[in-house]
This record gives sequence, C-alpha cells and structure tokens, in this order.
Amino acid sequence: MNEFALIRRYFARDCATPSVLLGVGDDCAILKPAPDEVLLVSTDLLVAGRHFPLNTAPEDIGHKALAVNLSDLAAMGAQPRGVTLGLALPEADPDWLAGFAEGFHRLAAEFGVCLIGGDTVASPQLTLAVTVLGGAQPDRVLRRDAARPGDLIAVTGTLGDAGLGLRTVLSPDSVPAELPLADRDYLRGRLDRPTPRLAEGQVLAGFAHAAIDVSDGLAQDLGHILAASGVGAEIDLAALPLSAAARRWLALDPSVETLPLTAGDDYELLFTLAPEDRDRLDFPATVIGSIRAEPGLVVRNRAGQAVDLARGGFDHFAVGPD
Ligand code: ADP
Ligand code: MG
Repeated sequence: MNEFALIRRYFARDCATPSVLLGVGDDCAILKPAPDEVLLVSTDLLVAGRHFPLNTAPEDIGHKALAVNLSDLAAMGAQPRGVTLGLALPEADPDWLAGFAEGFHRLAAEFGVCLIGGDTVASPQLTLAVTVLGGAQPDRVLRRDAARPGDLIAVTGTLGDAGLGLRTVLSPDSVPAELPLADRDYLRGRLDRPTPRLAEGQVLAGFAHAAIDVSDGLAQDLGHILAASGVGAEIDLAALPLSAAARRWLALDPSVETLPLTAGDDYELLFTLAPEDRDRLDFPATVIGSIRAEPGLVVRNRAGQAVDLARGGFDHFAVGPD
C-alpha cells in the first residue's frame, strides 16, 4: 500500500461540517470560521511508550490522540472546527491502521469535527502530532489567568482514575489483590479513552473565570492557574471526587491517598467561578476549594492539616535528585 492509498483508505472521510470547505486531498484544507469567531489552535504530541503504554489497543491510541487535543479546546470553552494529524509510523500494518482510524474517526464524529489534513511518514518510533482548530466568541474564551480571590475551585468528573489505571500497567504488583477485575478495567479505560469535556466547557464559557484541563495532575495544573492569575488556593483532599473504583482502591491501600492530587491524564476540567454562580453548574462537578489572595497552594487533609506536596505532577524534563 503506498502513502496515498493509505491516506485515502484510512484518513479521507466525507465531512459534512459547515466550517470545512475542503478537507483531505489538496495541498491545504480550507476552513470558514463563523462570523465574529476567533480561532483557537492547540497541538499535542504523543509518543508510544511515553504517552500511552506500548500495549495500548490501536483504537484507543486513535481515541486518545484526538481526545487530549479536544480537551484543550474544552478547557478554553471553544468548539472544535477541524483537526490535523501528523503520523510517524514504523510500518503500514492494515490492522493497526484500521483500528487507529476507527478510534480517531469515531470520537471525531461524536464531537462533530472532521480530520481535514495531516502528514504521514515512516519512522522507527510511533509518534502522533494532532493539531485542533477551534472557534469561540472572543468574550467567552476561558483562560488560565482569570481566577479571583474568593472564587470557588471545581472540577468535572473524577480524579486519579487514569493514574491508577497507569499503575495497573506499570506496576501490576502494586494493585491490591482484592481489587475487582472490573475496577482495573474501568481505571485502564479511563487512562486509554479519556472523555473531552467539550459540552461542559461550552457551559462554563458563560460564567466561569479561569479554566484548564487536568493533564499533568491537579496540583500542577492548578498551579498554572494560580501563577497566571497571581493568586493562591486552598483545597480539601477529602473533597476530591473519586470514582467508585478509585475509592475501593484507596480503601484497600491508603498509601495512594494523595495520588488523585498529582497523577495526570484524567483530562477533567478544573475551573474557578464566583460562589453565586455555583447553581449554574448543570453537569457533574465538585467544588474542591477556593482561591485566596495569598500566593501558594495549601492542601488540607481530613484532619485539617496541610499535606506536603513536594512530589508534584508529571514533567517531561524534570531532573531527579542529585
Ligand atoms: P503534500 O505533499 O502536499 O504535503 P501529502 O502527500 O503529504 O501532501 O498529503 C496529501 C493529502 O493528504 C493532504 O491533503 C494532506 O493534508 C492529507 N494527509 C496526509 N497525511 C494525512 C493524515 N495522517 N491524516 C489526514 N490527512 C492526511
Ligand atoms: Mg506531506
């Protein structure tokens, strides 16, 4: 199969989105933004073995590569308008490509976005670069620098699932023996198939102050909001929303209690809002703390004591102790 047959077979799909005038096949795609819309652009690179376990199913790789990018649009309250895919592949394995394309296109269809272009090359290391283009009204964009003292801090969904799911892959011996198989599968699924919170981001764009998606861990990503906004925060460890599977794991092994603070890959939205807007949250969301004027992040445990956050979230370039 040559490069062009591959692109035609797996990546060129009919696209019935009004914002896309021309998709895959020419030198460029043509997009038409809606009137008064600003364009938001974000790219994420995924490297096999680093951003997803090597044994990840191709469908899940396709899903995740798109989901993590759509999540960035969700975090700013934008709607997806188009997506491009740079693919570096060790070999053109039809089964792998069919699975990957299925996972990618299925999620794209679910959120009404089309693959409009990309590039495909042979390379020893499976690497994916996805770029999403989004549209938003300029006065409704959510940024990291808009948190204000007195704001509530809230999060969609549950935290720590993906981090625990990664443990089931990287250190299966550390999984409590009594943890049901269904819980392990659920947590692995949360790692492999994150849900971009686009609808929630759209709602939040109407009234939330600052927002970010939790890709590198709650403490680290909240830290980005605090730094950009020039404020501090206090959060309550006991308030962090946990799935039933994560709760069962923590009950069997209390040593992972702070993992939902530091583990990445959940792709939930973390946002701040004025207390009087709390009733406008019409989707599952949990208030976990508040913004204060004094800089710094204080996390309190059940007993009200401050938790040591020395070990933060994921950092590709972090240097170890020397
Ligand atoms: P060019 O040589 O002009 O860069 P290519 O031969 O690389 O064009 O690509 C041909 C067409 O296929 C272009 O429209 C390009 O955007 C699209 N394309 C290539 N790879 C991918 C991919 N992985 N996903 C989606 N579209 C792709
Ligand atoms: Mg090319």
